[in-house]
Amino acid sequence: MAIERTFSIIKPDATARNLTGAINALIEQAGLRTEVDQTGNVIGTLLGASFGATAGANPGGTSLTPASRDTVMLSAHLDTVFPAGTDVKVQHDGDRWIAPGISDNSTGLAALIALARAFHAAQIKPQLNVLFVANVGEEGEGNLRGMRALIDAYGARLKAVIVLDGSSTDHVTTKALASRRMEAVITGPGGHSWSDFGMPNPINALVRGSVRFIATKVPAAPRTTYNLGQIEGGTSINSIPHEARLKVDIRSESESELTRLESALRDCISAGVRDEMEAARDRSKGKLEFKVELLGSRPGGELRPDSPLLAALRAADDYVGNQSRPERSSTDANIPLAQGIDAISIGAGGNGGGAHSLQEWYDPAGREIGLQRAFLTLVAMSGIAPTK
Ligand SMILES: [Zn+2]
Repeated sequence: MAIERTFSIIKPDATARNLTGAINALIEQAGLRTEVDQTGNVIGTLLGASFGATAGANPGGTSLTPASRDTVMLSAHLDTVFPAGTDVKVQHDGDRWIAPGISDNSTGLAALIALARAFHAAQIKPQLNVLFVANVGEEGEGNLRGMRALIDAYGARLKAVIVLDGSSTDHVTTKALASRRMEAVITGPGGHSWSDFGMPNPINALVRGSVRFIATKVPAAPRTTYNLGQIEGGTSINSIPHEARLKVDIRSESESELTRLESALRDCISAGVRDEMEAARDRSKGKLEFKVELLGSRPGGELRPDSPLLAALRAADDYVGNQSRPERSSTDANIPLAQGIDAISIGAGGNGGGAHSLQEWYDPAGREIGLQRAFLTLVAMSGIAPTK
């Protein structure tokens, strides 16, 4: 089975370094000219029949020059949440394949390559240019930097962006969920657990602030969430730490709720530091300092209900007998949507679960529906040049 071979090559790796070369080669084998941009995105370009008709076009190279809406982009992110060195060997459990990153986003990458191969094998010449992109910076603290760079480079000429992320065919992401990622850092003089007892302790302060923050009420509608995702600090059990760090992910359907939670976090950390300083018996050896910083911010946005891209997806769904519901989430599509460029994020077919866990699984049954759906949507947007 071709996908099994693709998976054996596409090994998830947070650094994405191992992947870039492999993906580049696979896209090249599908007959495309490829380049890796400065951000690390792998870009395969299939020139459309109408390319060159516009003044300023550059038919000799893969770099497209500005023109109006003559390009469609299909993308799949190639980074994962897992640290380098994570064991990604696929385990089989009945119909399930288990490996970190297998659904999010090896399935998307495999589909990206499958669609490039389909164009090549069927010798389809699109009317518009099609970019097949394996991009970086979607997960963790990537802050969508891969997609941001792509939209900076191609934004003005993009007619549509189709993002392949994860498995399943039951949804189409048409609304971008806005989010903010914050980091609180508290520092202090540090000392010995016994002889310096009573000095202000950054971990105590962080805990005090965190307890305040998690008491913050969030509305069910507009849906708003927060997650204390990472906490670290200290050097040993018998040392008063000189540093404590906390990372928090905040998401909401409403920008104003995001802003409210962001300032709540700042206030709570500040109050936690104040509480700890007040409780400290010995303030002579220094005080606590803190900062709360924005690590990243994903903008919100929505696809117009009368968008040709949504119509194309719906037509593809009808054709393959699939039903999907529109939904809101935080994906690479946030960036084009926030800039008014038509974009959707869809699964690549099959089924999966346990995303971002070591038990992440994928079941390829029904995968062809996802591939056909993505292919038809892409072709509907790019058009096919008439054969001579
Ligand atoms: Zn993903």
